[in-house]
Amino acid sequence: MNTARVVIIGAGIAGLSAGSYLARSGYETEILEKHSIPGGLCTAWKRSGYTIDYCVHWLMGSRPGAGFYGLWDELGAFDNEDGSRTAIIDHEFFTQFNFEDGETLTLYSDADRLEEELLRVAPEDEQQIRRFTRMLRKLSGFVHGETGEELGAGARLGMRLSTLARMPQIISQARTTIGEYAARFTNPRLREALSAGIPDDWSSISLSLGLAMQHSKSAGYPVGGSLRLARNIERRYRELGGKVRYNAPVSEILTEGGRATGVRLDSGEEIPADYVISAADGYATLNSMLGGRFTSPKLQKAHDTYPLFPSSVFVGLGIGRDLSHLPHACMLRLTDPIELPDGSTHERASLTVYNFDPTLAPEGGTFVSVLLNTWNGDYWHHVAQNDRPAYEGAKDAVAKAVIDNLETTFGGIREAVEVVDVSTPHTVIRYTANRSGSYEGFAPTPQTVSTSLPKTLPGLSRFAMIGQWTAPGGGLPTAAKDGKDIARRVTRELG
Ligand SMILES: Cc1cc2nc3c(=O)[nH]c(=O)nc-3n(C[C@H](O)[C@H](O)[C@H](O)COP(=O)(O)OP(=O)(O)OC[C@H]3O[C@@H](n4cnc5c(N)ncnc54)[C@H](O)[C@@H]3O)c2cc1C
Repeated sequence: MNTARVVIIGAGIAGLSAGSYLARSGYETEILEKHSIPGGLCTAWKRSGYTIDYCVHWLMGSRPGAGFYGLWDELGAFDNEDGSRTAIIDHEFFTQFNFEDGETLTLYSDADRLEEELLRVAPEDEQQIRRFTRMLRKLSGFVHGETGEELGAGARLGMRLSTLARMPQIISQARTTIGEYAARFTNPRLREALSAGIPDDWSSISLSLGLAMQHSKSAGYPVGGSLRLARNIERRYRELGGKVRYNAPVSEILTEGGRATGVRLDSGEEIPADYVISAADGYATLNSMLGGRFTSPKLQKAHDTYPLFPSSVFVGLGIGRDLSHLPHACMLRLTDPIELPDGSTHERASLTVYNFDPTLAPEGGTFVSVLLNTWNGDYWHHVAQNDRPAYEGAKDAVAKAVIDNLETTFGGIREAVEVVDVSTPHTVIRYTANRSGSYEGFAPTPQTVSTSLPKTLPGLSRFAMIGQWTAPGGGLPTAAKDGKDIARRVTRELG
């Protein structure tokens, strides 16, 4: 056992991953988490027999041999408590769009089928469609994320060459905004399908990489959902000797002579450390826990100017019915657009019908979620703290509007509703402390995705920051990889 002690703030996927790799290297590690469970944003909660799953829809690296798979495997992400291995579902399609005249457009996972579907809807865009699907096929072999150190030299070289061969597509997609990319097509439905739910100024890599991973079946859904994934990683971490303390919010990172020396909890307790890693919200780490005493110009610029990923108003429904006839995922056209009190108006909502994961519902029931993005998370936080009746009223109104829309579109929903649970940006802030309730940190614009943010701060040694606030675009694999990368760095620094 190495005698150095590493304290990690936050038991989200980044913090758990860092802890796991450091514990594996023999360090004494303790994760301090403000919530009572692991996972951070990768979470779920129970309501009357239903599991309200909040996070994972697709997990990059779900297939053996795909980029990131080795990482999840080392973290024990797919090893369940009962000794079974998590089943992965690769959906036939990514999502579907319905239109006013009853027509649909399906974004199939398989690129050939997708091509056929897009040509059916928009034959006038044939040339661009073929270019688009050719690019997806090429990107689908991208093994981004694997460090490859566990492989032989030949395999490592193969991986690098394969990545290099795809670089022109990756760079071009990263630099093009989704608005610019969608504008290459003339068909309005196709344009809408390529850009719905994604702001025009985001990088088109956020859509193309997601679709490409569907084609290669490398980003499936892990049955059991988000919390099972997080608990599996936490259990492996503990088996490796790591400790976690829940209900332990950190208020301050202690420093002495330009070196991190430990943390202070809200309770006043001080915990000494040879190295401190913050895997918590970036803004709070810099400005509150470190009191603004240390920063880096690049990080400061990011927090001052980079646009954020949205937060969401999320309606979880337990429906006491078999809904296997409904599409599992849909960008649902709302027959009555929903106006949220935060000023946003929604003509479509992201609907997931978990008819593919029976573990989330009691026998005969189905868990359904509807997600409405909002960039005004602070509004919900403010109202929740200052006008509770208005906050509760707004939640009820959203739930009612969502159920009404589902009823109009599909029928047979309203009378089967057994559970209604609404989470807002305030809920995200309360449980995870992410700034403005953002659910993936900084938004992936062409500017941000090509920038790498520093993990350490000038003038402060024995300290690092990881997770979605140091990697624009965020996501589960990035968080897990950050944990592994920082563990290697700490090992180098501490010996
Ligand atoms: C609705 C939704 C759907 C998503 N879908 C996907 C998906 O399909 N695929 C995908 O890859 N990603 C998805 N994501 C994104 C992904 O969940 C996040 O990017 C990732 O979980 C971030 O992990 P993290 O460890 O960096 O941060 P977090 O999960 O935010 O973890 C930070 C942890 O730090 C703790 N903390 C904060 N402050 C303190 C403090 N002062 N003291 C102690 N602890 C503290 C928090 O409680 C939290 O547990 C989704 C997110 C959401 C919300």
